[in-house]
Amino acid sequence: MIEIELHHAFVLLTAILLALLYSLSLYDAWRARVRGWDLTEDQLGECVRCHTVFIAGRSETVIRCPRCGSLCPSSRRGDSASRTKGR
Ligand SMILES: [Zn+2]
Repeated sequence: MIEIELHHAFVLLTAILLALLYSLSLYDAWRARVRGWDLTEDQLGECVRCHTVFIAGRSETVIRCPRCGSLCPSSRRGDSASRTKGR
């Protein structure tokens, strides 16, 4: 069995923990790059009253402006829905 002194064990444990934290940060950076934002114009809504551009969920059928609260028709969303149904 390998015998090590107490202060060597502490240094070794600290080095292992730092290596683990470095590995986790590298994994997190890789994951953020792979799963980054991929916004398309289909996900954007624009208010006709105050001209605010905002992100709208794909499953939402009625879009409400987050600033003024008015309902916003979106021709782009209608076009994308008809294209999806055509497939
Ligand atoms: Zn608005």
